[in-house]
Amino acid sequence: MSGITCKFGGSSLADATCIRQARTIIEADENRRFVVPSAPGKRNAGDRKITDLLYAWHRIAAEGLDASDPRRIIADRFAELAEQLDVQFDILGLLDEIATQAGRGTADYMASRGEYLNGRLMAEVLGATFVDPAECIFFKASGHFDERSYAVLGEKLRGEGRFVVPGFYGSLPDGRIKTFSRGGSDVTGAIVARATASDLYENWTDVSGFRMTDPRIVPEARRIEEITYQELRELSYMGATVLHDEAIYPVRATGTPICIKNTHEPENPGTRIVAERESDRPVCGIAGRAGFSMISIEKALMNKEKGFGLRILSVLEEHDVSWEHMPTGIDTISLIVRTEDLDGKTEDILAAIRERCRPDSLGVTENLAMIATVGQGMNHHIGVAARLCGAMAEAKVNLRVIDQGSSEMNIIIGVEEEDLATAVKAIYHAFADWDC
Ligand code: ASP
Repeated sequence: MSGITCKFGGSSLADATCIRQARTIIEADENRRFVVPSAPGKRNAGDRKITDLLYAWHRIAAEGLDASDPRRIIADRFAELAEQLDVQFDILGLLDEIATQAGRGTADYMASRGEYLNGRLMAEVLGATFVDPAECIFFKASGHFDERSYAVLGEKLRGEGRFVVPGFYGSLPDGRIKTFSRGGSDVTGAIVARATASDLYENWTDVSGFRMTDPRIVPEARRIEEITYQELRELSYMGATVLHDEAIYPVRATGTPICIKNTHEPENPGTRIVAERESDRPVCGIAGRAGFSMISIEKALMNKEKGFGLRILSVLEEHDVSWEHMPTGIDTISLIVRTEDLDGKTEDILAAIRERCRPDSLGVTENLAMIATVGQGMNHHIGVAARLCGAMAEAKVNLRVIDQGSSEMNIIIGVEEEDLATAVKAIYHAFADWDC
């Protein structure tokens, strides 16, 4: 099989005008054969997402209370869509069926109905075949995605014409519905692209791809034309959102490119996510986030003491804290953790490290922000770190931590939280037009 899988996010299907626009995009290319819709999103800032209404319906019904409000709002929204799009759609009948499960079924079941209903509607709008993921996207009893889905799904999507596969959910071995985490229709899109051996996975949303850094900090930040799966992983880990971070894995294995496109500006090329990028630009993106703390440990001749690192990390494990970075010196080691993970445990953790490791000094620095400067070309370009540090010096930002990942694909720095925006701006300007 081949063709294009196109996933449309909730903001791209929020009202009849958006859905018509999505239909125009889909019909403009006969290769766009596999369509993965989200549930309708917000039409304006004060509006509600259908998924949120369904979670509310579940909560209210589970308390044994009257959930007629969310049910009516959902009914009205789908009835209006069907009328404006001029398709037959028995929303009241479908909601009656769903209502029998409200309060008895799981939250996952209820939440998944937004995609289910929108999938049914989109299949009508496109004259396409509806495929229910409950029958072909499987989770193991552990809750992890079951790779056997690819073959079953691929079989279901064989044949002529277009198919609509609602995003966000599948089923457990006992038949119960299970959803991915929020925003999970992106993952369904990637699974469908892999199962159909699509040539391309288009992810249609409300922005024209990724920007080199957060536009709330640098409004003029340029669009990233191409980024590798691995670079994107590094940036999303640090807080760049647009695509669900699990959506890369199914297509990465086959090297299928993902293209992030804007439904409201379809001619914009957006961002392509690929295995290897053509441009050799050393830095492709900068992402930062606040909310980190650093535990610093110093002990003379630490390097000669076997099992020192193990003992420190065992303390974190026992307190259920995971570490994010671990820069080391000769006689020093620092553990960078998310401050929220420490939540009331700091004193106990310090006491345990003191007892188990007998350090010469031990301290915690809070209110750190970590910033990742990411780019695959960095490993063969001289001067990236120098340029980064120079930019920090010029912006008068004190560098608390520097850590170059072992992949030589990113440099992570730690700064005071209050310096986060200044540092990101300075790094962006140092690299955006670097003619190296
Ligand atoms: N509708 C779900 C959510 O709001 C899934 C998705 O849109 O991808 O999270």
